Amino acid sequence: MHYQVSIVGGGIAGALLALYLGRARISVCLIDRGHPSQDIQKPPEGKTTSLNLSSIESLKQAGVWDFIQKDSQEFEEIHVWDSEGSSSIEFKAHEISKQKLGVIVHNQIILEAIFREIKEYSSIDLIEGESLQTLTSNEDNASIITESGLNISSDLIVGADGSLSVVRNLSNIPIRTWSYHQLAIVSSVITSNPLNETAFQIFTDTGPIALLPLSTKPNLASLIWSTDQIYGEKLLELERDLLMKELRLKTEDRFGALTLDEDIKSFPLNQLHAKKFFKDRSILVGDSAHTIHPLAGQGLNLGIADVRELSELVISKNRYGKNIYDREMLRTYSKRREPESYKMIALMEAFKRGFGSDNPWIKMGRNLAFGFADKAKPLKKRLIKEAAGII
Ligand SMILES: Cc1cc2nc3c(=O)[nH]c(=O)nc-3n(C[C@H](O)[C@H](O)[C@H](O)COP(=O)(O)OP(=O)(O)OC[C@H]3O[C@@H](n4cnc5c(N)ncnc54)[C@H](O)[C@@H]3O)c2cc1C
Repeated sequence: MHYQVSIVGGGIAGALLALYLGRARISVCLIDRGHPSQDIQKPPEGKTTSLNLSSIESLKQAGVWDFIQKDSQEFEEIHVWDSEGSSSIEFKAHEISKQKLGVIVHNQIILEAIFREIKEYSSIDLIEGESLQTLTSNEDNASIITESGLNISSDLIVGADGSLSVVRNLSNIPIRTWSYHQLAIVSSVITSNPLNETAFQIFTDTGPIALLPLSTKPNLASLIWSTDQIYGEKLLELERDLLMKELRLKTEDRFGALTLDEDIKSFPLNQLHAKKFFKDRSILVGDSAHTIHPLAGQGLNLGIADVRELSELVISKNRYGKNIYDREMLRTYSKRREPESYKMIALMEAFKRGFGSDNPWIKMGRNLAFGFADKAKPLKKRLIKEAAGII
């Protein structure tokens, strides 16, 4: 079997890349160890994403936005406050002359939309339930062998296989990683006080809590509760109503009574980035290239921007009938995407250090920083544009 591009990993990044390339009649093989095209729960559950305006544009271009839009919740405002101090800041869409800053939607909906569309293209072969075992690359092509012995050759191999990427390991791409010693507790809750198209982020002494409006039920909010490891493990042992009592306390009762609406899932939080985004014929997109703290809700937005960049480069190579393996093209991709990922990692570190500290000077500093950012209009506009993904 020979394809122009093999993509390992059918998460949102890999599947979206397959769709972009397949639509341009590039032969693609998309391999996943699970069955992402079939893992569809109704009503949707689990991880959600806050998609910024740039990601929405990319999903429109892929022809999947209409399907996603009907189950997504727009937000016009981001309200951040510091439960350790008295400071808060509000970012509003109208401050940058927009009607919204993004939408919140379940990851499952995005995947469902992409896989429905993938089925329409004969240029995409979907291989599920197969795990990558070996990868070799030479002058002519790259070849992979899966767990059950399928041998697939291609001009380019894309690692879209997440944080523990096997493509990255087999290609000997070095990484830098550290643990945040935190857990993300993910679920959804019904709030008594409505969120009103506002995404809330609360910095607490044990980690940031995000409550994001969802559209599937009235007053439903996606909960992403990042907590220090030991405290988080204790939370996971609590009965549902005690857990909600604790959440109510941590969020200073601003949302009224809270009711858990689905089972809790938890994820360890690590920071990771590949020191290079490509080697030989392998190239990385999404979490395999960079895994960041969920506090600013930017991980997948970065991944979608990788996919758009890489697909545009590959499609334009193919348009001129050239072999799509071209080191100069891979270098261009890295040059454009690596700085974006480093910028986001640095920002997450600044947040983590600034808000994860008990030092009274740092606490005072962050209160002042909130006040300053609120008053300095150009800085505030820049921050809002950054969050909306339009810088
Ligand atoms: C709690 C939480 C909240 C988040 N919230 C947001 C948010 O609001 N906004 C945002 O932009 N980002 C957010 N993120 C980040 C976002 O979820 C990730 O960046 C995104 O899901 C990564 O997508 P991906 O396709 O790169 O990788 P993944 O979703 O990890 O997909 C990798 C795929 O590769 C497959 N695979 C792995 N190994 C192999 C193998 N050897 N062979 C074959 N297949 C393989 C897996 O089965 C999987 O399907 C959040 C993350 C967390 C943890």
